[in-house]
Amino acid sequence: MGAIQLNKVEKWFGSLQVIKGIDLDIQDGEFVIFVGPSGCGKSTLLRLISGLEETSRGEIEIDGKDVTALPPSGRGLSMVFQSYALYPHMSVRENVGFGLKTAGLPKDEIDKKVNAAADVLKLDEYLDRRPKALSGGQRQRVAIGRAIVREPSAFLFDEPLSNLDAALRVEMRFEVARLHKSLGTTMIYVTHDQVEAMTLADKIVVLQAGRIEQVGSPRELYERPDNLFVAQFIGSPK
Ligand code: ADP
Ligand code: MG
Repeated sequence: MGAIQLNKVEKWFGSLQVIKGIDLDIQDGEFVIFVGPSGCGKSTLLRLISGLEETSRGEIEIDGKDVTALPPSGRGLSMVFQSYALYPHMSVRENVGFGLKTAGLPKDEIDKKVNAAADVLKLDEYLDRRPKALSGGQRQRVAIGRAIVREPSAFLFDEPLSNLDAALRVEMRFEVARLHKSLGTTMIYVTHDQVEAMTLADKIVVLQAGRIEQVGSPRELYERPDNLFVAQFIGSPK
């Protein structure tokens, strides 16, 4: 299960308010994209949901349970970091299984989960390699594999493809779409790339200066933008 609800969520850093009262309903299995200009609060909002940042006001619920005060480990979500966060001295197998090992899972269980993730991500042949012997796309898959083995109720991605070159970005975009289809798990994905947003999302959340400008399907935002900001951001002819 991965239904997530935000009620009047605010975030202040000292006297600076960066999230200004966000209400949002995410259904289980939905692919939700946060878009908006640099500095509008996308990463902060994702970090509030994951628990990496404390919420100043408002509540966050996961499957009807208030998790606002829970640490990241109590929320059952997985944050996917960019591929450069891999451990260079560990094999792909060790990288993917690392979180499970620190959680104290027995080796045969870890192997089973790592093999299943490798299967979904087409990494079977690379399990004994070090990250430096992989392509950029394969490294990104390893980073996703780490999240998959924890069987989260939702995946949170913060601009996972922004370090990749254009061709690889397109390839990985298909990979992420395929992954969502095969796992059926809720995904919340931050990007400033409109094409990524329009092609991946069930629901796009357009943010500006810590507020939601509009929420809707790619088609709704394109055909019926609420205001000029959304129209210009999505690239529709309003
Ligand atoms: P985005 O991901 O949309 O580019 P961020 O969520 O990273 O935006 O940042 C939103 C605003 O919050 C920016 O003005 C940024 O400088 C500020 N901010 C982010 N993190 C911190 C922090 N830890 N301390 C102070 N200000 C922060
Ligand atoms: Mg950001």
